[in-house]
Amino acid sequence: MPSNQRRGYAYKSSRTPYSRPPRAPRASKPKHGQYIDPVRFIKIANPVKAEDYTPKHKFADFNVDTRLMNSIKFKGYETPTPIQDQTIELGLEGKDVIGIANTGTGKTAAFLVPILHRLMTDRSAKALIVAPTRELAQQIEMERRTLSKGAGAYGALLIGGSSYGPQLADLRRNPNIVVGTPGRIKDHIEQRSLDLGRFNIVVLDEVDRMLDMGFVNDVKTLLSKLAPQRQSFYFSATMDNRVSGLIAGFSPDAVTVSVRQGDTSDNVHQDVVPYTDKANKLEALHTLLIDPVVTKTIVFESTQRGVERLERDLRGRGFDVAAMHGGKTQGARKRALDAFKKGDVTIMIATDVAARGIDVADISHVVNYGMPQTYEDYTHRIGRAGRAGKIGYALTFVEQG
Ligand code: AMP
Repeated sequence: MPSNQRRGYAYKSSRTPYSRPPRAPRASKPKHGQYIDPVRFIKIANPVKAEDYTPKHKFADFNVDTRLMNSIKFKGYETPTPIQDQTIELGLEGKDVIGIANTGTGKTAAFLVPILHRLMTDRSAKALIVAPTRELAQQIEMERRTLSKGAGAYGALLIGGSSYGPQLADLRRNPNIVVGTPGRIKDHIEQRSLDLGRFNIVVLDEVDRMLDMGFVNDVKTLLSKLAPQRQSFYFSATMDNRVSGLIAGFSPDAVTVSVRQGDTSDNVHQDVVPYTDKANKLEALHTLLIDPVVTKTIVFESTQRGVERLERDLRGRGFDVAAMHGGKTQGARKRALDAFKKGDVTIMIATDVAARGIDVADISHVVNYGMPQTYEDYTHRIGRAGRAGKIGYALTFVEQG
């Protein structure tokens, strides 16, 4: 019997999890955070079949600036994704839009297309795009650059962990589009290097994550400094009272577009990996990582020190790994993420904060080596696998108490 079956966890695609009733290990309580019953870490994937969506538009139907249309073609986008299909026209009409959509659904172009069209055709327009994490802000800026090629748009990327010099130089060029994270944008306002008074378009991306991360006051401050007459876009994976409360205060007439089709976690087989002590835990991880079905993995640890320790341990065992946590420089985080994205490294060790908003295709396995603090963190972690309709696996290490 292969060793993984003996251990009783179900990451092998050849074996259906739940082929026998799962016997959840008893877990000792985590030192910090919420107690989560390990039974909640076991679930067979139940992929939602993307309903056959017939888009109303082709990109060619949108009446946008020729330079923008050329960039869209250059990107290879022909058919709009559902969120793009339903949002771009509203955006072009100048409406405030709330998009309920997960990452990976094409939401970046859903707001960038109407915004860039406006920037290309109206010299007085200025846009601010706020994202919860540095990585997401960088991804948006990259998409912004390719879509506005040849249009003479100046951009600035204002994120923490990067030096101020180049950001100040970009701001002096009077950019018409600024992308950034709430903390650094606020710093620039306080230092008077950024005046939002003439910014008349705003995007809040991943509003729910922004609120989870405690940015509510920063976000309200930013919004209050923008031009009072403005167009707003809000994107969020979930719409709860906090999110709708924030939005209602600023954009009571916003039109809501929802394209959520079940949870990403419905595409993820979830199971536990029992362990009894530290040595045995590392051994189980080693066994898992050498399994050929584990093609691209993100391994979560709870703390920065935990990430560093595991990075050392796995390197010591001959694994090529990348690592990300909030204490690493922005340059180091970017290099690690790029290597992981390109597939130069197939194992990424990260804390929750560093992993938020990461859009990396084809992650086969999410491994919760360190317990998540809350069930919500858990769902967010496992959403890194099983994207774009693919089945993913989430394995949570649970101490047998
Ligand atoms: P996003 O949700 O904006 O992060 O986009 C997810 C991925 O889908 C990115 O790699 C985009 O380049 C890609 N994408 C977005 N819109 C389209 C489209 N209409 N056709 C093909 N790919 C797209």
